[in-house]
Amino acid sequence: MTTDPRSPATALQGSRCSGCSVSVYPADDACPRCGGPADPATLSGAGTLWTWTVQRYAPKSPPYQAPPGGFVPFALGYVELPDGVRVAAVLDVDDFEEVRIGMPLMVTAGEGVPRARPTTGHKGNS
Ligand SMILES: [Zn+2]
Repeated sequence: MTTDPRSPATALQGSRCSGCSVSVYPADDACPRCGGPADPATLSGAGTLWTWTVQRYAPKSPPYQAPPGGFVPFALGYVELPDGVRVAAVLDVDDFEEVRIGMPLMVTAGEGVPRARPTTGHKGNS
């Protein structure tokens, strides 16, 4: 597993407190813990699934815009990153049955909500 330095546009741009080193996403210029100044930081997108749900109905519109083919249920989860940040992301999985709490995921930023995809290359390692 590697991070690709050539594609900074897909990295999570958060921020990190210069005082207590708390990281946040999305970026904020104030630390949520101590209120001190936070500097922009690129966060590692590699994390594990903390919790998730299936969005079975279209979110309120606006701001939600349904895709051209119409709304399709999708998995939405919180991915816990090593920095201690929990990021809400759409889970890019083929089958909701694949989703497990604690599964390794790679989160990338994109338009709107970040997306997370499984980083395991194979299934059934138990
Ligand atoms: Zn702080």
